[in-house]
Amino acid sequence: MKTIDLRSDTVTKPTPEMRRAMMEAEVGDDVYGEDPTVNRLEEQAADVTGKQAALFVPTGTMGNTIAVKLLTEHGQEVICDSRAHVLDYEMSMVAWFSGCVIRAIPTSDGLLSWEEVKRLIKPVSPYSAPTGLIAIENTHNMWGGTVYPIETIYEICDGAHERGLKVHMDGARIFNAAEATGMPVREICAPADTVMFCLSKGLGAPAGSILAGPKHLMDKGRLYRKRLGGGMRQVGVLAAACLVALEDSPKKLAADHANARFLAEGLARIPGIEPRAVSTNIVVFDVSGTGVPPAALSVQLKRRGVLMNAINDRQVRAVTHYDVTREDCAQALGAVAEAVTEAVTR
Ligand SMILES: *Cc1c(COP(=O)(O)O)cnc(C)c1O
Repeated sequence: MKTIDLRSDTVTKPTPEMRRAMMEAEVGDDVYGEDPTVNRLEEQAADVTGKQAALFVPTGTMGNTIAVKLLTEHGQEVICDSRAHVLDYEMSMVAWFSGCVIRAIPTSDGLLSWEEVKRLIKPVSPYSAPTGLIAIENTHNMWGGTVYPIETIYEICDGAHERGLKVHMDGARIFNAAEATGMPVREICAPADTVMFCLSKGLGAPAGSILAGPKHLMDKGRLYRKRLGGGMRQVGVLAAACLVALEDSPKKLAADHANARFLAEGLARIPGIEPRAVSTNIVVFDVSGTGVPPAALSVQLKRRGVLMNAINDRQVRAVTHYDVTREDCAQALGAVAEAVTEAVTR
């Protein structure tokens, strides 16, 4: 039985083209800046994000960590939403590495507004931690792949810059935002000081992320990357797969989005299940109406060859990617319906 893995788009396996590119990659020592394939990837990534320079990092977490370090001073506050990846899933690196605290804003969709951010900005005073940075997540993972309207991005960035604050975009899935809005990546992240995106999620590379921004910051970021243990040597073997991901994969995301909508429509027909509106490739659905706890449903699904993760005591998350087909999604829906019915009639 084929396992249908909807836990995340990180589970994608490298394509034959990626494997071929990896085998044939021209390499050198990247700590000396001599890996031609990494250099090419960084140039193309700078181009696609419209930033001066880019830095190849092993993970998105390291990219976000370096960005926060570059854009803050020790003891400052970083504003983000209350379910942000930088807050919940990065082992407190904002505090651990940059010495900053987070001021979290609760939202109903993961998207901040300038109105909310503005109210929480704090100046230097003998009491509070002064605000240094706003971090925005686009698309927003835990709220189901929600996408920032471009106007909101400009309001936040322009407002922050007027007050001397910086903005980092956690664009782990910015290519999904580009697919959903029809806007190029470079326009979406234009007003942000730095942007991080993952090649290892929906774009399908085996590993690797990019941090992009002004050249002087990326030069400094290279040193933080080394400190964090991210000074890799002949890493062109990975960068080669990332180049294929950057060139070939964005056009595949439309199919993932259509599959996510298909999943959500099917889930909505199962009594007791309420999916959130789908904007990209992530379906978050509330199962409390079925009486089956999310963790139990996840176990039931696994027995039927379908993997989905419970994300809290009400919700389950399913993420589409190029290793799941429309048929797989149909089969996954059947498994959910079965698992729910069985639990209810037992
Ligand atoms: C996946 C992800 C990251 C980075 O994760 P890594 O596993 O460290 O590559 C950062 N932000 C968001 C929103 C993500 O979904």
